[in-house]
Amino acid sequence: MTPNSRKVLAEKTLERESYSPFPEGYVKGKTKYVIVTGSVMSGVGKGTFSGALCTLLSCHGLKISPVKFDGYINFDAGTLNPFRHGEVFVLQDGTECDLDLGSYERALHRNLTKDNYLTGGKIFKIIIDKERAGKYLGRDVQFIPHVTGEIKYFLRSLAMKSSADIVLVEVGGTVGDLENSYFVEAMRELRHEEGQSNVMFVNVTYIIEPGSLREHKSKAAQIGFRQLMALGVQPDMIICRSQTPITNSVADKISVFANVPPERVYNLYDFSNVYEIPLILRDIGLDAELFKIFGIAPRENHDSLMNFNNWKDFVEKIKNAKKEISVGIVGKYTNVHDSYLSIIKSLEHAAPYFSASVKIKWIESTDIEDEKISAEEALKGFDGIIVPGGFGKRGIEGKIQAIRYVRENNIPYLGLCYGLQLAVVEFARNVCGLKDANTTEVDPETGCPIIDIIPDQDSNIENSRIGGTMRLGDYPARLKPDSLARRLYGKDIVSERHRHRYELVHKFHKTLEEKGLVISGTYEEKGLPEFIEIPGHKFFLATQAHAEFTSRPLQPNPMFLGFIEACVK
Ligand code: GLN
Repeated sequence: MTPNSRKVLAEKTLERESYSPFPEGYVKGKTKYVIVTGSVMSGVGKGTFSGALCTLLSCHGLKISPVKFDGYINFDAGTLNPFRHGEVFVLQDGTECDLDLGSYERALHRNLTKDNYLTGGKIFKIIIDKERAGKYLGRDVQFIPHVTGEIKYFLRSLAMKSSADIVLVEVGGTVGDLENSYFVEAMRELRHEEGQSNVMFVNVTYIIEPGSLREHKSKAAQIGFRQLMALGVQPDMIICRSQTPITNSVADKISVFANVPPERVYNLYDFSNVYEIPLILRDIGLDAELFKIFGIAPRENHDSLMNFNNWKDFVEKIKNAKKEISVGIVGKYTNVHDSYLSIIKSLEHAAPYFSASVKIKWIESTDIEDEKISAEEALKGFDGIIVPGGFGKRGIEGKIQAIRYVRENNIPYLGLCYGLQLAVVEFARNVCGLKDANTTEVDPETGCPIIDIIPDQDSNIENSRIGGTMRLGDYPARLKPDSLARRLYGKDIVSERHRHRYELVHKFHKTLEEKGLVISGTYEEKGLPEFIEIPGHKFFLATQAHAEFTSRPLQPNPMFLGFIEACVK
């Protein structure tokens, strides 16, 4: 044994058990916590409500740090199939997370980090790592206090690090799920430790309206409250989601059963313009009640981007749209629209700035590939076409045919990630005459591997290190002077978020450029192409990044603005 390891072991026996739920220097009461839970069923709009609350409170000048808790044992969302789970959103720091984080960034106009995303897997990894390092000093490691303690520690650390006025926690799933039960318990303890005036619970429930009865039934909601209360949590506010407005008598019933004063029972029925929800929440006085519960006041916030005037202007722009444009998205998860949520949002953000609204049509690339429909039939009549990100082989030839059609017919084209790679393959095959051009993702044996695995990625794949190892998050690109990309972004260096393993291979750049393809943005450190375009085309622009992740209502992404502008013309 070396003297050093002797010292480490000796110190260990003196160490105290390290599971305090309070980070060093934490001051109680400085940050308030809003915990949003859902009952009755999933998919009722808990995320939309939480996002709207973020907007409302930040327009009031408060600093909000949101957290999404997902109960699954996956460490992050990176290994989840978007077909089952919806889009994998990527943060600036490369965290692959739930799409709700995207809603929060769009609601707040702020970049979030890994500290805003918590999963069951992340918590258990911390716990097991600590146990293996002997940190629990012989104790049995338990859900209470160890797991719940780790959760509270995570939230308090975020509160401190971000100097948040309010940490808003959205508990994924529904109350009563085994997967989030320990998390709800942690939230109960949080209120116990922080005090009643520092932690509040909002329960989003659903009021069913069976078609055969044509009236609202609150029984399922009542059962939901009972489940929440059985876990020791008394809600402070209830959001009743419903298809149509509920009557006062239903609201009164909810108030009695949930033990919540009637003025804190709100109804949010189905509403076409989600951007208006923050203003509605203000009109119905939810913010005033929240301030009362916490004993805080809003701040003057006229200078920042997030203020009520700017938000109202945006909502008005949506209402005043004069023209509808039709955009086709050629993908293969087209029956799960959530797979492309950020793209839908980016289009929604950009269109109002050109007095337009967007009608999206989903074009299943496998239908073109399987010749169920020709590219021409599938694509004619659109004002613009997007090929989004994707993985694997299925549907790829269909996407390539679609890109050929829009390139040859001068239809605005926006390519995102795989949408860049496939645009290059198409150009190489049909303009440069490289008939075998392909990505090795589709054909590992291709004679013309124009898109190939990024060299750094080889060892990850060979060692089966799949989770969290793609080229992830922000990378800067230098844009070419006089390029379309440069004109749209209005600056030389831009950063967008990435999530890929393949790249356009350097030795083919010259051939492509000789035939008129412009590599208009490059990650200089490694010489990786980040943007391509075809001058002379009405609009043909693609990026290796996911430009859709940085678009926000009051600051739409420049690529989407340019694309919509071209579609409107
Ligand atoms: N499958 C491609 C790659 O890994 C593109 C990824 C994507 O579109 N996000 O490089």
